[in-house]
Amino acid sequence: MFDDRRSVIIKDGRKLSFEYVPERLVHREEQMSTLKMLFRPVFEEGRSETAFVTGSVGTGKTATVKRFCADMMRYGAEKGIPLDYVIVNCRQRNTEAGVILQVLRHFDAGHPDRGFSAPEMLRTLRGLMESRKARLVIVLDEADILIKKNAVDLIYQLSRFNEEYINLSSSVSMILIAQEYILDSIDTASLSTFKRTNTIRFSKYTRDELRDIVKIRADESLFPGKIRDDAVDLIADISSEWGDARFAIDLLDKSARKGENKDEGEVTAEEVREAKAMIYSVVTESKLADLDLNHKLTLLAIARSIKDKAYITTGAAEKTYGVVCEEYNETARKHTQFWTYVQDLEKSGIITTVVRGDAEGGRTTYISLPDIPSKVLAHKLEDIIDV
Ligand code: ADP
Ligand code: MG
Repeated sequence: MFDDRRSVIIKDGRKLSFEYVPERLVHREEQMSTLKMLFRPVFEEGRSETAFVTGSVGTGKTATVKRFCADMMRYGAEKGIPLDYVIVNCRQRNTEAGVILQVLRHFDAGHPDRGFSAPEMLRTLRGLMESRKARLVIVLDEADILIKKNAVDLIYQLSRFNEEYINLSSSVSMILIAQEYILDSIDTASLSTFKRTNTIRFSKYTRDELRDIVKIRADESLFPGKIRDDAVDLIADISSEWGDARFAIDLLDKSARKGENKDEGEVTAEEVREAKAMIYSVVTESKLADLDLNHKLTLLAIARSIKDKAYITTGAAEKTYGVVCEEYNETARKHTQFWTYVQDLEKSGIITTVVRGDAEGGRTTYISLPDIPSKVLAHKLEDIIDV
Protein backbone atom coordinates (compact mmCIF):
# COMPACT_ATOMS: atom_id res chain seq x y z
CA MET A 1 0.00 0.00 0.00
CA PHE A 2 2.78 2.47 0.91
CA ASP A 3 5.29 1.85 -1.81
CA ASP A 4 8.88 1.90 -0.83
CA ARG A 5 10.41 5.09 -2.14
CA ARG A 6 12.88 7.57 -0.94
CA SER A 7 11.51 10.90 0.15
CA VAL A 8 12.95 13.85 -1.69
CA ILE A 9 11.63 16.64 0.51
CA ILE A 10 11.13 15.39 4.06
CA LYS A 11 14.33 14.61 5.91
CA ASP A 12 12.83 13.92 9.33
CA GLY A 13 9.06 13.67 9.55
CA ARG A 14 8.99 13.36 13.34
CA LYS A 15 10.05 16.96 13.58
CA LEU A 16 6.81 17.97 11.86
CA SER A 17 4.62 16.29 14.48
CA PHE A 18 2.90 18.17 17.31
CA GLU A 19 4.69 16.14 19.95
CA TYR A 20 8.11 17.27 18.84
CA VAL A 21 9.57 19.88 21.16
CA PRO A 22 12.35 21.93 19.57
CA GLU A 23 15.53 22.63 21.53
CA ARG A 24 14.94 26.35 21.26
CA LEU A 25 11.59 28.09 21.11
CA VAL A 26 12.00 31.35 19.24
CA HIS A 27 10.00 34.34 20.44
CA ARG A 28 9.29 32.68 23.76
CA GLU A 29 12.48 33.84 25.46
CA GLU A 30 10.58 36.16 27.77
CA GLN A 31 8.18 33.46 29.01
CA MET A 32 11.07 31.05 29.41
CA SER A 33 13.04 33.49 31.52
CA THR A 34 10.01 34.22 33.71
CA LEU A 35 9.66 30.48 34.34
CA LYS A 36 13.35 30.32 35.25
CA MET A 37 13.01 33.25 37.60
CA LEU A 38 9.98 31.70 39.33
CA PHE A 39 11.53 28.26 39.68
CA ARG A 40 15.01 29.25 40.81
CA PRO A 41 14.01 28.89 44.51
CA VAL A 42 12.54 25.47 43.76
CA PHE A 43 15.81 24.42 42.25
CA GLU A 44 18.16 26.03 44.71
CA GLU A 45 16.27 25.87 47.98
CA GLY A 46 13.69 23.14 47.51
CA ARG A 47 10.85 25.58 47.92
CA SER A 48 7.61 25.08 46.10
CA GLU A 49 6.20 27.40 43.52
CA THR A 50 3.09 27.73 41.41
CA ALA A 51 2.80 29.24 37.99
CA PHE A 52 -0.12 29.84 35.76
CA VAL A 53 0.40 29.76 32.01
CA THR A 54 -2.31 31.16 29.79
CA GLY A 55 -2.88 31.95 26.11
CA SER A 56 -4.92 30.88 23.13
CA VAL A 57 -4.39 27.70 21.15
CA GLY A 58 -1.08 27.22 19.35
CA THR A 59 0.79 29.95 21.20
CA GLY A 60 3.44 27.49 22.41
CA LYS A 61 2.27 26.97 25.99
CA THR A 62 2.71 23.19 26.10
CA ALA A 63 5.93 23.21 24.10
CA THR A 64 7.51 25.94 26.23
CA VAL A 65 6.61 24.28 29.54
CA LYS A 66 7.84 20.90 28.29
CA ARG A 67 11.11 22.44 27.16
CA PHE A 68 11.47 24.23 30.47
CA CYS A 69 10.84 21.10 32.56
CA ALA A 70 13.17 18.94 30.48
CA ASP A 71 15.94 21.55 30.62
CA MET A 72 15.52 21.98 34.37
CA MET A 73 15.70 18.24 34.96
CA ARG A 74 18.80 17.93 32.78
CA TYR A 75 20.45 20.75 34.67
CA GLY A 76 19.45 19.17 38.00
CA ALA A 77 21.08 15.90 36.96
CA GLU A 78 24.30 17.77 36.17
CA LYS A 79 24.27 19.52 39.53
CA GLY A 80 23.21 16.48 41.53
CA ILE A 81 19.87 17.97 42.52
CA PRO A 82 17.02 15.43 42.43
CA LEU A 83 14.30 16.94 40.33
CA ASP A 84 11.39 15.35 38.58
CA TYR A 85 8.34 16.43 36.66
CA VAL A 86 5.15 14.95 35.37
CA ILE A 87 2.87 16.41 32.74
CA VAL A 88 -0.79 15.46 32.82
CA ASN A 89 -3.05 16.36 29.95
CA CYS A 90 -6.37 17.04 31.64
CA ARG A 91 -8.31 16.66 28.42
CA GLN A 92 -7.29 13.02 28.31
CA ARG A 93 -7.58 12.53 32.09
CA ASN A 94 -10.56 14.65 32.83
CA THR A 95 -11.43 13.61 36.36
CA GLU A 96 -9.64 14.27 39.64
CA ALA A 97 -8.99 10.57 40.13
CA GLY A 98 -7.69 10.25 36.57
CA VAL A 99 -5.21 13.07 37.09
CA ILE A 100 -3.94 11.75 40.43
CA LEU A 101 -3.64 8.27 38.99
CA GLN A 102 -1.42 9.51 36.19
CA VAL A 103 0.84 11.31 38.66
CA LEU A 104 0.98 8.16 40.82
CA ARG A 105 1.81 6.00 37.84
CA HIS A 106 4.79 8.20 37.17
CA PHE A 107 6.31 6.84 40.39
CA ASP A 108 4.68 3.44 40.45
CA ALA A 109 3.91 2.21 36.94
CA GLY A 110 2.03 -0.78 38.30
CA HIS A 111 -0.46 1.13 40.43
CA PRO A 112 -3.91 -0.42 39.75
CA ASP A 113 -6.23 1.84 37.80
CA ARG A 114 -9.30 1.10 39.87
CA GLY A 115 -10.32 0.31 43.40
CA PHE A 116 -8.96 3.48 45.01
CA SER A 117 -10.68 6.75 45.69
CA ALA A 118 -9.10 10.09 44.91
CA PRO A 119 -8.31 10.85 48.60
CA GLU A 120 -6.72 7.40 49.02
CA MET A 121 -4.54 7.93 45.99
CA LEU A 122 -3.55 11.38 47.21
CA ARG A 123 -2.39 9.82 50.48
CA THR A 124 -0.33 7.24 48.61
CA LEU A 125 1.17 10.02 46.51
CA ARG A 126 2.14 11.96 49.61
CA GLY A 127 3.86 8.92 51.06
CA LEU A 128 5.75 8.38 47.83
CA MET A 129 6.83 12.01 47.70
CA GLU A 130 8.09 11.80 51.25
CA SER A 131 10.19 8.72 50.70
CA ARG A 132 11.59 9.83 47.36
CA LYS A 133 12.87 13.16 48.55
CA ALA A 134 12.61 14.80 45.17
CA ARG A 135 11.51 18.17 44.00
CA LEU A 136 8.52 17.44 41.87
CA VAL A 137 6.86 19.72 39.35
CA ILE A 138 3.34 18.70 38.40
CA VAL A 139 2.10 20.24 35.18
CA LEU A 140 -1.63 20.23 34.61
CA ASP A 141 -2.02 20.97 30.91
CA GLU A 142 -5.42 21.99 29.52
CA ALA A 143 -6.55 22.60 33.07
CA ASP A 144 -9.58 24.54 31.77
CA ILE A 145 -11.39 21.25 31.61
CA LEU A 146 -10.80 20.36 35.24
CA ILE A 147 -11.89 23.79 36.34
CA LYS A 148 -15.00 23.78 34.20
CA LYS A 149 -15.89 20.46 35.76
CA ASN A 150 -15.43 22.00 39.17
CA ALA A 151 -12.50 19.81 40.02
CA VAL A 152 -10.60 22.70 41.59
CA ASP A 153 -10.34 20.84 44.85
CA LEU A 154 -7.61 18.72 43.37
CA ILE A 155 -5.55 21.81 42.58
CA TYR A 156 -6.09 22.92 46.13
CA GLN A 157 -5.07 19.56 47.56
CA LEU A 158 -1.94 19.36 45.49
CA SER A 159 -0.94 22.90 46.31
CA ARG A 160 -1.28 22.11 50.02
CA PHE A 161 1.16 19.23 49.98
CA ASN A 162 3.94 21.51 51.08
CA GLU A 163 2.16 23.15 53.96
CA GLU A 164 1.66 19.81 55.62
CA TYR A 165 5.03 18.30 54.94
CA ILE A 166 7.74 20.76 55.61
CA ASN A 167 10.74 19.00 54.35
CA LEU A 168 13.48 20.74 52.47
CA SER A 169 14.47 17.89 50.24
CA SER A 170 11.07 17.22 48.76
CA SER A 171 8.55 19.68 47.46
CA VAL A 172 5.67 19.79 45.06
CA SER A 173 5.36 22.66 42.63
CA MET A 174 2.68 23.19 40.07
CA ILE A 175 2.28 24.69 36.66
CA LEU A 176 -1.26 25.13 35.43
CA ILE A 177 -1.75 25.62 31.71
CA ALA A 178 -5.07 26.87 30.40
CA GLN A 179 -6.51 28.63 27.43
CA GLU A 180 -8.79 31.02 29.16
CA TYR A 181 -8.23 33.21 32.08
CA ILE A 182 -9.43 30.72 34.67
CA LEU A 183 -7.99 32.13 37.85
CA ASP A 184 -11.33 33.73 38.60
CA SER A 185 -12.98 30.33 38.85
CA ILE A 186 -10.50 28.98 41.37
CA ASP A 187 -11.72 29.50 44.92
CA THR A 188 -9.91 31.92 47.15
CA ALA A 189 -8.18 29.30 49.30
CA SER A 190 -6.23 27.78 46.43
CA LEU A 191 -5.98 31.14 44.76
CA SER A 192 -3.74 32.32 47.55
CA THR A 193 -1.09 29.88 46.39
CA PHE A 194 -1.62 30.80 42.76
CA LYS A 195 -0.42 34.32 43.08
CA ARG A 196 -1.69 36.42 40.29
CA THR A 197 1.77 37.75 39.69
CA ASN A 198 2.83 34.27 38.67
CA THR A 199 0.69 34.41 35.56
CA ILE A 200 2.68 34.01 32.36
CA ARG A 201 0.88 35.15 29.28
CA PHE A 202 1.39 33.76 25.80
CA SER A 203 0.18 36.15 23.14
CA LYS A 204 -0.78 35.17 19.62
CA TYR A 205 2.18 34.98 17.28
CA THR A 206 2.60 37.75 14.74
CA ARG A 207 3.09 37.01 11.07
CA ASP A 208 6.85 37.54 11.30
CA GLU A 209 7.17 35.36 14.39
CA LEU A 210 5.27 32.59 12.62
CA ARG A 211 7.57 32.97 9.66
CA ASP A 212 10.61 32.43 11.88
CA ILE A 213 9.01 29.37 13.51
CA VAL A 214 8.13 27.82 10.15
CA LYS A 215 11.52 28.63 8.62
CA ILE A 216 13.43 27.03 11.51
CA ARG A 217 11.15 23.98 11.51
CA ALA A 218 11.55 23.60 7.74
CA ASP A 219 15.34 23.72 8.12
CA GLU A 220 15.17 20.98 10.74
CA SER A 221 12.74 18.67 9.00
CA LEU A 222 13.26 19.14 5.25
CA PHE A 223 16.25 18.64 2.99
CA PRO A 224 18.05 21.90 2.17
CA GLY A 225 16.43 24.16 -0.43
CA LYS A 226 13.25 22.10 -0.70
CA ILE A 227 10.83 24.84 0.23
CA ARG A 228 10.65 28.14 -1.58
CA ASP A 229 10.88 31.35 0.39
CA ASP A 230 7.52 32.61 -0.81
CA ALA A 231 5.91 29.33 0.28
CA VAL A 232 7.21 29.97 3.80
CA ASP A 233 5.82 33.53 3.51
CA LEU A 234 2.44 32.20 2.48
CA ILE A 235 2.27 29.76 5.41
CA ALA A 236 3.05 32.66 7.76
CA ASP A 237 0.44 34.89 6.08
CA ILE A 238 -2.29 32.28 6.29
CA SER A 239 -1.67 31.25 9.88
CA SER A 240 -1.24 34.82 11.11
CA GLU A 241 -5.01 35.16 10.98
CA TRP A 242 -5.07 33.02 14.12
CA GLY A 243 -1.54 33.61 15.39
CA ASP A 244 -1.41 29.86 15.80
CA ALA A 245 1.89 27.98 15.44
CA ARG A 246 0.08 24.64 15.47
CA PHE A 247 -1.81 25.61 12.33
CA ALA A 248 1.41 26.87 10.73
CA ILE A 249 3.28 23.64 11.39
CA ASP A 250 0.35 21.54 10.25
CA LEU A 251 0.36 23.52 7.01
CA LEU A 252 4.11 23.00 6.62
CA ASP A 253 3.70 19.28 7.23
CA LYS A 254 0.86 18.83 4.76
CA SER A 255 2.50 21.06 2.13
CA ALA A 256 5.66 18.97 2.34
CA ARG A 257 3.64 15.77 1.95
CA LYS A 258 1.86 17.23 -1.08
CA GLY A 259 5.23 18.13 -2.54
CA GLU A 260 6.55 14.58 -2.12
CA ASN A 261 3.92 13.35 -4.55
CA LYS A 262 4.89 15.73 -7.32
CA ASP A 263 7.61 15.69 -9.91
CA GLU A 264 8.97 19.15 -9.09
CA GLY A 265 10.40 17.84 -5.83
CA GLU A 266 9.99 21.06 -3.90
CA VAL A 267 7.37 22.88 -1.88
CA THR A 268 5.93 25.93 -3.64
CA ALA A 269 3.04 28.24 -2.79
CA GLU A 270 0.79 25.92 -4.78
CA GLU A 271 1.38 23.02 -2.37
CA VAL A 272 0.64 25.39 0.50
CA ARG A 273 -2.68 26.32 -1.07
CA GLU A 274 -3.49 22.64 -1.63
CA ALA A 275 -2.62 21.89 1.98
CA LYS A 276 -4.76 24.73 3.19
CA ALA A 277 -7.65 23.58 1.03
CA MET A 278 -7.30 20.21 2.73
CA ILE A 279 -7.48 21.74 6.17
CA TYR A 280 -9.87 24.54 5.62
CA SER A 281 -11.35 26.22 2.59
CA VAL A 282 -13.66 29.21 2.52
CA VAL A 283 -14.03 29.10 -1.21
CA THR A 284 -17.21 27.20 -1.73
CA GLU A 285 -18.66 26.11 -5.01
CA SER A 286 -21.70 28.27 -4.37
CA LYS A 287 -19.53 31.33 -3.91
CA LEU A 288 -18.12 30.77 -7.38
CA ALA A 289 -21.51 30.05 -8.89
CA ASP A 290 -22.77 33.39 -7.58
CA LEU A 291 -20.23 35.33 -9.62
CA ASP A 292 -21.29 36.83 -12.96
CA LEU A 293 -19.34 36.14 -16.15
CA ASN A 294 -17.05 39.17 -15.87
CA HIS A 295 -15.99 38.26 -12.35
CA LYS A 296 -15.52 34.61 -13.31
CA LEU A 297 -13.24 35.58 -16.18
CA THR A 298 -11.26 37.90 -13.94
CA LEU A 299 -10.83 35.17 -11.34
CA LEU A 300 -9.87 32.63 -13.99
CA ALA A 301 -7.21 35.04 -15.23
CA ILE A 302 -5.85 35.37 -11.68
CA ALA A 303 -5.84 31.60 -11.14
CA ARG A 304 -4.06 30.95 -14.43
CA SER A 305 -1.40 33.58 -13.98
CA ILE A 306 -0.59 32.92 -10.32
CA LYS A 307 0.28 29.22 -10.93
CA ASP A 308 2.73 28.17 -8.21
CA LYS A 309 3.61 31.67 -7.04
CA ALA A 310 2.37 33.23 -3.82
CA TYR A 311 1.55 36.62 -5.35
CA ILE A 312 1.10 38.23 -8.73
CA THR A 313 0.75 41.88 -9.66
CA THR A 314 -2.58 43.19 -10.91
CA GLY A 315 -0.71 44.08 -14.12
CA ALA A 316 0.21 40.44 -14.74
CA ALA A 317 -3.35 39.34 -13.96
CA GLU A 318 -4.77 41.94 -16.34
CA LYS A 319 -2.58 40.69 -19.21
CA THR A 320 -3.88 37.16 -18.70
CA TYR A 321 -7.38 38.59 -18.42
CA GLY A 322 -7.05 39.86 -22.01
CA VAL A 323 -6.09 36.38 -23.20
CA VAL A 324 -8.91 34.73 -21.25
CA CYS A 325 -11.51 37.13 -22.70
CA GLU A 326 -10.30 36.38 -26.19
CA GLU A 327 -10.57 32.65 -25.53
CA TYR A 328 -14.19 33.05 -24.40
CA ASN A 329 -15.04 35.58 -27.14
CA GLU A 330 -15.75 38.35 -24.67
CA THR A 331 -14.64 41.95 -24.98
CA ALA A 332 -12.07 42.70 -22.30
CA ARG A 333 -13.18 45.56 -20.05
CA LYS A 334 -11.11 48.68 -19.47
CA HIS A 335 -8.51 48.87 -16.72
CA THR A 336 -10.72 50.72 -14.20
CA GLN A 337 -13.46 48.15 -14.67
CA PHE A 338 -11.03 45.26 -14.27
CA TRP A 339 -9.84 46.93 -11.08
CA THR A 340 -13.35 47.00 -9.61
CA TYR A 341 -13.74 43.28 -10.41
CA VAL A 342 -10.56 42.60 -8.45
CA GLN A 343 -11.88 44.60 -5.52
CA ASP A 344 -15.22 42.78 -5.63
CA LEU A 345 -13.43 39.43 -5.54
CA GLU A 346 -11.49 40.57 -2.52
CA LYS A 347 -14.70 41.67 -0.78
CA SER A 348 -16.20 38.24 -1.30
CA GLY A 349 -13.14 36.71 0.35
CA ILE A 350 -11.86 34.68 -2.59
CA ILE A 351 -8.66 36.64 -3.12
CA THR A 352 -6.66 39.04 -1.01
CA THR A 353 -4.70 42.05 -2.19
CA VAL A 354 -1.84 43.96 -0.68
CA VAL A 355 -0.25 47.21 -1.85
CA ARG A 356 3.53 47.51 -1.70
CA GLY A 357 5.87 50.34 -2.59
CA ASP A 358 8.48 49.66 -5.26
CA ALA A 359 12.03 50.94 -5.80
CA GLU A 360 10.87 53.76 -8.10
CA GLY A 361 8.51 55.14 -5.48
CA GLY A 362 5.42 53.75 -7.19
CA ARG A 363 2.86 51.46 -5.62
CA THR A 364 2.00 48.03 -6.90
CA THR A 365 -0.97 45.90 -5.94
CA TYR A 366 -0.30 42.23 -5.45
CA ILE A 367 -2.99 39.59 -5.55
CA SER A 368 -2.83 36.46 -3.44
CA LEU A 369 -5.00 33.36 -3.50
CA PRO A 370 -4.96 32.15 0.06
CA ASP A 371 -7.63 29.47 0.19
CA ILE A 372 -7.58 27.28 -2.86
CA PRO A 373 -4.96 25.83 -5.19
CA SER A 374 -4.86 27.84 -8.40
CA LYS A 375 -5.26 24.71 -10.53
CA VAL A 376 -8.35 23.57 -8.64
CA LEU A 377 -9.86 27.03 -8.92
CA ALA A 378 -9.08 27.27 -12.63
CA HIS A 379 -10.67 23.86 -13.32
CA LYS A 380 -13.76 24.71 -11.30
CA LEU A 381 -14.19 27.98 -13.18
CA GLU A 382 -13.65 26.37 -16.57
CA ASP A 383 -16.39 23.90 -15.65
CA ILE A 384 -18.94 26.52 -14.70
CA ILE A 385 -18.28 29.26 -17.28
CA ASP A 386 -20.95 28.94 -19.96
CA VAL A 387 -19.77 29.41 -23.48
P1 ADP B 1 -0.41 25.43 22.84
O1 ADP B 1 -0.08 24.45 23.92
O2 ADP B 1 -0.29 26.85 23.27
O3 ADP B 1 -1.73 25.16 22.18
P2 ADP B 1 1.81 24.17 21.54
O4 ADP B 1 2.87 24.38 22.54
O5 ADP B 1 1.20 22.82 21.47
O6 ADP B 1 0.68 25.27 21.68
O7 ADP B 1 2.40 24.57 20.12
C1 ADP B 1 1.78 24.14 18.91
C2 ADP B 1 2.83 23.68 17.93
O8 ADP B 1 3.65 24.77 17.54
C3 ADP B 1 3.77 22.64 18.49
O9 ADP B 1 4.09 21.73 17.46
C4 ADP B 1 5.00 23.43 18.89
O10 ADP B 1 6.17 22.66 18.80
C5 ADP B 1 5.02 24.56 17.88
N1 ADP B 1 5.52 25.79 18.45
C6 ADP B 1 4.83 26.66 19.23
N2 ADP B 1 5.60 27.71 19.57
C7 ADP B 1 6.81 27.50 18.98
C8 ADP B 1 8.03 28.25 18.95
N3 ADP B 1 8.14 29.42 19.58
N4 ADP B 1 9.06 27.75 18.25
C9 ADP B 1 8.94 26.57 17.61
N5 ADP B 1 7.83 25.82 17.60
C10 ADP B 1 6.75 26.27 18.27
MG1 MG C 1 -1.21 22.87 24.64
